[in-house]
Amino acid sequence: MSCLFCGIVEGKIPSRKAYEDDRMLAFHDINPQAPTHVLVVPRKHVTSLLDLSQEDEPLVGAMVSRARELARELGVAERGFRLVFNCGDDAGYSVHHIHLHLLGGRPLAWPPG
Ligand code: AMP
Ligand code: ZN
Repeated sequence: MSCLFCGIVEGKIPSRKAYEDDRMLAFHDINPQAPTHVLVVPRKHVTSLLDLSQEDEPLVGAMVSRARELARELGVAERGFRLVFNCGDDAGYSVHHIHLHLLGGRPLAWPPG
């Protein structure tokens, strides 16, 4: 099984990194949907939100906290930002390794498209 984000985690595929530690990394989306669009990705391969287990809960919490810190560092925290986990075809989930989108830097419509 080849996974694009496992390739990025392993350094086999380049990315523009915003953060990394022993559990996760964050990098800028290759096709940004907002002036700030970063993906927070766990090093552990989890195929989708539906595959998360109870033991992953601390990891998911750490991803959310990291995204919030990145929002501050990247200067979008004050004006506002959005965190998104897509899941499944209706949500347009396309890379099957969980990732948290951080979007900001422009007004974001609600409801989303
Ligand atoms: P999703 O629709 O939630 O599965 O989001 C996948 C995201 O990964 C999209 O926003 C893509 O633009 C982004 N993406 C795909 N390939 C890469 C890549 N090589 N580097 C950075 N982001 C990527
Ligand atoms: Zn993977």
